[in-house]
Amino acid sequence: MSLNVASDDFLRELDASLPGVICPVEARYLEEPRGVFHGQASAVLKPRSVADVSHILARCNGARVGVVPYSGGTGLVGGQICEQPGRVLLSMERMTSIREISVDDQTMVVEAGAILKSIQDAADDLELLFPLSLASEGSCRIGGNLATNAGGVNVVRWGNARELCLGVEAVLADGTVVHGLKSLRKDNTGYDLRHLLIGSEGSLGVITAARLRLFPKPVEVVTSLLEVDSPDVALSLLRALQRRFGETISAFELIDATGVSFIRETMPDLVLPPIGEAKWQVLVELGTGEGAALSARFEAALADAMESSMVLGGHIAQSEAQRLAIWRMRESIPEANKRVGAVVSSDISVPIGRIPEFIPRARDVIQRINAELRVNCFGHLGDGNLHYNIYPPKGRSKTEFGNLREEIKTAIHDLVYSFDGSFSAEHGVGRLKVGDLAKYGDTGKLAAMRAIKTALDPNAIMNPGAVVSAGP
Ligand SMILES: Cc1cc2nc3c(=O)[nH]c(=O)nc-3n(C[C@H](O)[C@H](O)[C@H](O)COP(=O)(O)OP(=O)(O)OC[C@H]3O[C@@H](n4cnc5c(N)ncnc54)[C@H](O)[C@@H]3O)c2cc1C
Repeated sequence: MSLNVASDDFLRELDASLPGVICPVEARYLEEPRGVFHGQASAVLKPRSVADVSHILARCNGARVGVVPYSGGTGLVGGQICEQPGRVLLSMERMTSIREISVDDQTMVVEAGAILKSIQDAADDLELLFPLSLASEGSCRIGGNLATNAGGVNVVRWGNARELCLGVEAVLADGTVVHGLKSLRKDNTGYDLRHLLIGSEGSLGVITAARLRLFPKPVEVVTSLLEVDSPDVALSLLRALQRRFGETISAFELIDATGVSFIRETMPDLVLPPIGEAKWQVLVELGTGEGAALSARFEAALADAMESSMVLGGHIAQSEAQRLAIWRMRESIPEANKRVGAVVSSDISVPIGRIPEFIPRARDVIQRINAELRVNCFGHLGDGNLHYNIYPPKGRSKTEFGNLREEIKTAIHDLVYSFDGSFSAEHGVGRLKVGDLAKYGDTGKLAAMRAIKTALDPNAIMNPGAVVSAGP
């Protein structure tokens, strides 16, 4: 079943029924961070309320016009990019209010267009924590975070966006509004549509608001950057620290020396924390309530880890400025990577216990394809998610190696699957990985996904071309 183009008549009628909803198609809506996809759209629609979204989707469904939901535009798999002409982009940027914060319930109801950083700040004002944290937090919006089930740096303690959301309000393809914003931890009343919509990347409906979980803000926080010899040792360190500090470890990030050299190469003015010469660094952050003597206990743990040569060197932030410098370095890796220019970027996960085996195996695979290629492997070791990115040799351009892209990507993903891993740990499928889902996805799951898509979006208007097409 093919879609129709959003005709001038269709847009005129929409404008008459919702004055001001149609906005110019600015260039920023047609680009994405990696520069892989270039979009086009008949119009950008900016609803002000859930009623507006419902009205728009009902009209689009009736006229069979494709709709691409858009929040912050920071997605890395092209899900927010409208590639075909004649479709409309639905931007959530006018729906940014925080409808409610309950200190007693430790929850907050926010509209989908609220920027992640503003949600973190609103929680912080009340000495609470919304722990979702990504390098794009100043631009991404919670609707996009939920639609992609974003991960980030705190998953080891607090989980993905999914675990941080108690319920959603959403509009389905035909305009039906699903009201799911109750503040309940227990509510076993049939299918949980929240879990269907979270991670569906705009392919089933539009998330218009969410009830988010908040947590007591850690009072004592320790952040450190430690040198280790290998991912194997990094994993042993994680387990050793978890035995001593349990759930209080909120971030455990693995950083390859190549990543640090990329920052030095491309961002020479960035003030870096002290960084040792070891091949690998780990960024560890822990947080507790008052009176836990966390700093002293961590220093003792670090002394033991150095005594046993598990940790080769490193430092603990002694001030908020030093803590921020460590995080700034970690958060600058994606930008430095972009400036160097990756031949292939991947966002993979394997069982955590197998990461030490995976990393050298993957390096061998890449070396066999072309021994000159550079690897920058970094990521969220604490939750098993690595960004395994491949770069040209210093001074050469990625375009020179463009003919190897498919071979490299396939080799990495095949290896990931032989480790029982995933080709998309936290970024989603979007448009970039539709072929990977078809290739590596479980056939039973794919059939169920197509059936769900057909049932909830029979005219296939929602984010056409992303994730999965309608069944059978
Ligand atoms: C520098 C940088 C660092 C990043 N780091 C991380 C990281 O650590 N972890 C991580 O998980 N991601 C990371 N990302 C990827 C990206 O920021 C996340 O995927 C983010 O959750 C996307 O949010 P957004 O608001 O920008 O969504 P968009 O890019 O606008 O949209 C993403 C997808 O969600 C759909 N969508 C958007 N809004 C809605 C809605 N209201 N209802 C239904 N569907 C919707 C879109 O159609 C699209 O398919 C990073 C990106 C950058 C540029």
